[in-house]
Amino acid sequence: MITYSSSDMDVTFVPVHQDNYAFILRTKCGVVGVVDPGEATPVIRALKKMELEPDYIFVTHHHWDHADGVAELKTHYLSCKVVAPDAEKHKIAAVDIPLKDGGVLEFGSQHVRTIATPGHTLGSLCYYFEEGNTVFTGDTLFSLSCGHLFEGTVEQMFSSFEKLKALPDETLVYCGHEYTRSCAGFCLRVDPENEDLKERIAQVKDLRDKGFPSLPSTIGMEKKTNVFFMAKNVGEFAALLRKKNS
Ligand code: ZN
Ligand code: FE
Repeated sequence: MITYSSSDMDVTFVPVHQDNYAFILRTKCGVVGVVDPGEATPVIRALKKMELEPDYIFVTHHHWDHADGVAELKTHYLSCKVVAPDAEKHKIAAVDIPLKDGGVLEFGSQHVRTIATPGHTLGSLCYYFEEGNTVFTGDTLFSLSCGHLFEGTVEQMFSSFEKLKALPDETLVYCGHEYTRSCAGFCLRVDPENEDLKERIAQVKDLRDKGFPSLPSTIGMEKKTNVFFMAKNVGEFAALLRKKNS
C-alpha cells in the first residue's frame, strides 16, 4: 500500500476497478475518511490492514466506479457518515451529509470545503481540505487532462477549472483515475516545446515503471503542464476538447 504523508494528513491509495483510485485519509488527530470507494472489498481490506474504521466517506460524483462501494461500507461501518453532492444524493447510496457549493465540514482538525465543479456530471464536487492543502478532484481535473463531459457544457467545465485554478499552487491534487501517462501524449502534441511538461512526463514514466501512482500532482504543476488547465478562455478550452476528441 502506498501512503503519501503531508504535515496534516496521510493519504493512502487504494487501486479499485481497472484504473480508479479510492483514498483512505487519516488526519494527525486520528479522524479517518474514504474518498470515492468505487468498490468495497479492496477498501475494507486496506482499512483492516491499517486497523482503521472510517468516520466519513466522501463521494465526488454518482458514477458507479466512484460510488458502488458506499452501500457495503455503510453496512460494515455503521457510524460512518456519507458525504456527497446534494444534487446527486438520490443516485448515491445512503447519503447522510448532502453538500452544495461552498459547504464546509469539520474533519478532525481540518476544514473540508466543497467546490462545485459541474461538467463531467452536473453535481460533481471537489473536496478541498484547507489545512492539509489537498484537493480530491474526482473525474473533473486529471493530471495532464480533464474529465469527459457526460452531463455538463464546455462553459461549465471551463468555469469549474477556473475555480480549481484559484487554489494555492502548492495544493496537492488527487484525481479519481490513474490516467496521467495516457494523457501525456496529447499535451505534448499541443505544447511540444514545454520543458516543464517534458520533465513531468519523464517523472511520471519513472513513477509508473516502478509501480507508483503518478499522483498527487499540484495545482501549480497542472498550471505549467496540463494544456486544458492552461487554456485562458472558454474558446481555447473548447478548441482543445475538439482536437482531443477528433
Ligand atoms: Zn465519472
Ligand atoms: Fe470515473
